[in-house]
Amino acid sequence: MSVLPLIDSCPKRMEYGPCGGVGFDGSCEVDAAHRCAFVHRPTVPWTGLDRTTAVAPGSRTAAASATLKALGTRPWIVADLPARALSVASIDACAAILTGEVDAVLAGDAGSARVQFPPAYRAHLLQRRGLRVWTGLNMRDRNRVAIEGELAALAVEGVAGVHCVTGDHTRTGHRPDAAPVFDLDSTEATALARAAGHVVSVAASPAAPPVDRRAARLREKIRAGADVCFVNHAGGAVPVRRFIAEAGNGIRYIPCVPVVVDHASADLLESFTTLVLPEGFVRRIRDARDPRAEGIALAAAMAQEMLAIPGVVGVNLSGGREGAEESFAEALAEIAQRVR
Ligand code: SF4
Repeated sequence: MSVLPLIDSCPKRMEYGPCGGVGFDGSCEVDAAHRCAFVHRPTVPWTGLDRTTAVAPGSRTAAASATLKALGTRPWIVADLPARALSVASIDACAAILTGEVDAVLAGDAGSARVQFPPAYRAHLLQRRGLRVWTGLNMRDRNRVAIEGELAALAVEGVAGVHCVTGDHTRTGHRPDAAPVFDLDSTEATALARAAGHVVSVAASPAAPPVDRRAARLREKIRAGADVCFVNHAGGAVPVRRFIAEAGNGIRYIPCVPVVVDHASADLLESFTTLVLPEGFVRRIRDARDPRAEGIALAAAMAQEMLAIPGVVGVNLSGGREGAEESFAEALAEIAQRVR
């Protein structure tokens, strides 16, 4: 029996896997009938330039230098961009609500709206309204050349940071008709983005198998050039604290805080099968007399808990609400005000 090379065993063609979507039973995110190709293998070491030992640190864009200077001087409040896809009017409306309230918006992917404005153009639309952008780049929709072009444009635009993820497969989300690219994975993209002078963030999923090797995997991303780690929902502040203690202080941490303000936003968050929320979190909001007020209060309280963890430099208010984007932006702004 022939054994496929690791890269050919993974539907996302990852070299430095696993992704964050490994099922709790070790199954592949893309094909639940198969086990993740990485889950029982040792952590793949980064073989490119090691930024933790490199003699020359590499130059940064002016915006990246400003981000690095500001991180750690005050808690950063980052919020998922709630705007409708392909709508300049919605982007403008959300920017008007969030400018001055959050430090940056994370403008990334959405399962229900895979077709977005190109990352650098979306960043431009937001930053011309005075809202700082942390751009999410997935490796599903663009090859290496297209990613290099985006990174160059994002450097000209002067974004606060670039969040490098491998991304969901096209078989999930609303465009299964599209061919997946996956020329690069998140770790390789991290190295490219860092070489382009950006502040680079990566994702870590402490609750996804192999749980005992998620910290080691993050350390390889640090060696590739990651500056910041967005910690995915792992069940609240206690497991995030445990993960950070294990992964170490070679990187700045921005944990995700779930924002749920009604039943529809609860449905959206619960559709992500591999995230873990604190026991009873969504139920409390669903059962509340005023779910919006309860959701805002719970998110603000969790943000404060996260910010008290050593190594944490900010929080990412995470969630969304299709069809009520501006109202959701107002909730994000209110949470940000309370956290400050
Ligand atoms: S779970 Fe992710 S990393 Fe593992 S084989 Fe599937 S796509 Fe690849």
